[in-house]
Amino acid sequence: MNYSEIMVRYGELSTKGKNRRVFINQLAQNVKRTLAAFPDIKIHADRDRMHLLLNGSDSQAVMPLLQKVFGIQNFSPSIRVEKELESIKEIALALVKERYQTGMTFKITAKRSDHNFELDTHGLNLLLGNAVVDTFPGIQAQMRKPDIDLRVEIRLDGAYLSCETLKGAGGLPVGTSGRGMLMLSGGIDSPVAGYLAMKRGVEIEAVHFASPPYTSEQALQKAKDLTEKLAPYAGSIQFIEVPFTEIQEEIKKSVPEGYWMTITRRFMLRLTDLIREQRKGLVIINGESLGQVASQTLPSMVAINEVTATPIIRPVVTMDKTEIIEIAEEIDTFQLAIQPFEDCCTIFAPPQPKTRPKLEKVLAYEERLDVVGMIERSLAGLKIEEVKVGKKEAEFADFF
Ligand code: ATP
Ligand code: MG
Repeated sequence: MNYSEIMVRYGELSTKGKNRRVFINQLAQNVKRTLAAFPDIKIHADRDRMHLLLNGSDSQAVMPLLQKVFGIQNFSPSIRVEKELESIKEIALALVKERYQTGMTFKITAKRSDHNFELDTHGLNLLLGNAVVDTFPGIQAQMRKPDIDLRVEIRLDGAYLSCETLKGAGGLPVGTSGRGMLMLSGGIDSPVAGYLAMKRGVEIEAVHFASPPYTSEQALQKAKDLTEKLAPYAGSIQFIEVPFTEIQEEIKKSVPEGYWMTITRRFMLRLTDLIREQRKGLVIINGESLGQVASQTLPSMVAINEVTATPIIRPVVTMDKTEIIEIAEEIDTFQLAIQPFEDCCTIFAPPQPKTRPKLEKVLAYEERLDVVGMIERSLAGLKIEEVKVGKKEAEFADFF
């Protein structure tokens, strides 16, 4: 079937009162960016619904991408016809025919916002119901959970028919909650953390620490690939590569082994916070999960967090690894994340990091370092690139 539009129903927007317009505009912008590979699509955003006029674009290719846009409750591919009973009937029968198999049940739900239309909803239900029964002998009407659920809407500009409602991603449109810096490693947890922050409307920028030549080109590419997996949820994501080699070498040289990890993390957090400030972010997001490793005990978090008062959002902090993996699989970051490339933490990881670092000691060891200079030099070498929705992603309709 050649669908003429996809009708989108908003998610939690309905509770946002005065901000509603802001939310709808942001959602429209996000949809446009996510569907950039389909320039013919026109977006009409009303108060209650958004209509994507396909203008010949393939709905089967569009829908898997649309399912990644936050702020959408669900959507239905629809066909628009003139408001004439004969045309409506013809398309209704064609839609049922496409799906009908012996023994199936159906239901017609008519709605109309054009009250001048010749039939009311009851009349339409009856007319179309009878036509279906006459055409498909043996088909039964059923109000609860019918196999074929045909919706007909009579609007001012035409009649819209659809048979399918697909679940959207829920959440809030990315950008409506402000911006945050995601500390993105190449692991399982941080991409999930980024996904969950975006789900609640946070626009993220990915901050990745790389320590060449100790970390490889592949490890860096993996972090970019993970970012690309997250891009369809946002349209595009800025990827910020932070040079971290000198800092790690200095720490290794001057700090006792047990404190490498704590002090390394403090540098990461300081740098992320300064980048956040430069780039007008409000918060930092990371993939810490309580108790997972030495750096993620509460005493460790306290010692690391001491370098900033900026709120740190830790979306997976209370999740079990299995729960995090489940989401990673859903968003297709898991397979990438388990590729075995050393990242900067594994290489400089001491055999026995302190799980209860003492702040006095941390501060004393940092006295030995040129903290300001190390940070300055690192910031001077930032590399920033925009990671867009991958071509593969846009062309590959793997849901249908
Ligand atoms: P992940 O699976 O996200 O790598 P992890 O379980 O390996 O997490 P750690 O390596 O202790 O845990 O990292 C904790 C958090 O610190 C990560 O989730 C991430 O937010 C941040 N982080 C660690 N390494 C880096 C890095 N190289 N670049 C940016 N952020 C990092
Ligand atoms: Mg890691």
